[in-house]
Parts: sequence; C-alpha cells; structure tokens
Amino acid sequence: MTLPNIEAKPAPEPLRHPEKAARPDQPSPRKPLWIRVKAPTSPEYQATRRLMRELKLNTVCEEAACPNIGECWKEKHATVMILGAVCTRACTFCNVATGRPDQLDPHEPQRVGEAVAALGLNHIVVTSVDRDDLDDGGAGHFAQTIAAIRAAAPQTTIEVLVPDFLRKDGAIEIVVAAKPDVLNHNLETVPRLYAEVRPGARYFHSLRLLDHAKRLDPTLFTKSGLMVGLGEARTEVLQVMDDLREAGVDFLTIGQYLQPTPKHHPVAGFVTPDEFEGYRRLALGKGFLMVSASPLTRSSYHAGEDFAQLKAARAAALGERA
Ligand code: SF4
Repeated sequence: MTLPNIEAKPAPEPLRHPEKAARPDQPSPRKPLWIRVKAPTSPEYQATRRLMRELKLNTVCEEAACPNIGECWKEKHATVMILGAVCTRACTFCNVATGRPDQLDPHEPQRVGEAVAALGLNHIVVTSVDRDDLDDGGAGHFAQTIAAIRAAAPQTTIEVLVPDFLRKDGAIEIVVAAKPDVLNHNLETVPRLYAEVRPGARYFHSLRLLDHAKRLDPTLFTKSGLMVGLGEARTEVLQVMDDLREAGVDFLTIGQYLQPTPKHHPVAGFVTPDEFEGYRRLALGKGFLMVSASPLTRSSYHAGEDFAQLKAARAAALGERA
C-alpha cells in the first residue's frame, strides 16, 4: 500500500499576546505628520541587525516596534533586552511578547559585553522583560551583565532600565551594588491609568523603587519616563513630575504613546510638539537636571548624548567642572 504524501506542516507561530486575543480591535486616530518616520534601510542599520542576530541578543528596539530604530541603529545604538524575549506581565501598551518565559541563558551577559565592545559604544542601555517567575526578578542577571560589560568595554557607561521587581525583596539592592551609571525605571503613565495600562504594577511601588535606589547610592543618576496620549490629564502629568522630584529622580523622559496593534490600548490623543515643549519647560522648572520631551522621545533615545549632558548638568548644579 502506498501511503499518501502528506507534507509536515510547520507548527503555527505562538501568539505574541495570547491574553489580548479575545479583546475587540480598538482603532486609534491617524498619526499626525510629526510622527511619521522613514523605513530603516541604511547599511549601518543592517550591520547592527546582523550583529544582534549573530550574538543571539534580543533588543527592545525590535520587540517594542520602536519608531526610532532606523535612526538609532544607523548610529549602532541598540537597547539590549536581557532575560529572554517573553514577559511575565501583560501591560496593555507593550508589544513585547507575553507568556511562559524563556529559560535563563547564563552566557547572555558575556554576549552583551561582546556586542558592546564590537559596536564600540560610549554608552549602552540594557533593559529586560519582567521575570516575576525568578526569585530575584532577574536582578542577579542584570548585575552579571553590568560586570561583563565593564570587563569587555571598560570605557563604556552603562544605563539599566529595570523592571519594578515587585515582591522581590533585595532585588534593587543587587542592581545598585553592581554600580550602573544610570538607573532608569519608567512610571509609564499616571496612577489613575495603572489598572488599565500597567495592571501588574503599582504606582507607589515604582516610585519607592526609584527613591530607594537613590538613597542606596546618591551618586547614581536616576531616570524615569512617561508616555502621553493614553488618556491622562495635564494636571496628572504635573503631579507625576512632582512625585518623581520627591523621589530624587534626575532625568525625565516624556514621549507619545503609539498603539502597536489594534488589540493594544488605543491612542487617546496626539500631544503636539508645542505641548511637549511646555512639559519640558515645566519639568525643568520643577528641578529635574535633564528633561527630554518630544513625540518620538523614548527612554533610550539619544541616551548617550543625554548622559553627557546629565553629568554636565549635575556638575554645574554642584559648581564643579564636568
Ligand atoms: S529609541 Fe531606544 S528602543 Fe527605540 S530604537 Fe532607539 S535605542 Fe532602540
């Protein structure tokens, strides 16, 4: 008997956001002209992409579908995402895949160090998915990554954009003890919208984390970011600025939220460049050392240049030379 020739079908791709699959599509308004960006095509962009593939590294630039990828990767500025490509939370704004997390790769810190040395970067931003499944939330892996970068590229300054380590006592202490140059933790939105936008997080826990990190090491630069266009009121944004200053945060970033897929939180409105400039001036008036506020501002956008300015701003405030 001849068996029918049945070709093996490839397994279907897992859903990136299984928890959002049943949500109705939520249309966003058309993007205004000031948001449009060019498709990434430069040879330098391709070279950065190749290196990330060769070293099997994830980047938030790709996973979050960042609109700045063409510009940043042309300059070899990629933000490495450690601890795997799958997040244990399910924020409604975020394009990073959610579900069962990857196994921890003990060699990842070394490969990040190699990538930073190969790219010849002055400044690197390292972020991660949330790893609520790990006892330390991944803090030890952050510390190993910082050490590996210091060993491979001692001149490079290091910025970490950490998760909230909710219910992981002692985690932020591990990261601060590894001595990054900048510790960033994004509040993302105003407290009223947390239940809808960041359901697994707690606003005051995130604020306390920033405050605690600064108290542990007052020489550390601390940074936080907000997205606008999610439905927040201007007065709520100003209150968040005050809260962040109370927590001693040095650097604030504010950018426009963009909806990654129709299943994600819809864009409630586009904030104009003039309104961003208004936020920037107000925040500087409240005492931040640095503020970056524009439609395409992201936590890691121009982070290297901004770090140089941040150091200069602190030195000026202390009456020293940078
Ligand atoms: S802004 Fe940040 S996340 Fe976006 S492409 Fe640049 S480095 Fe990557």
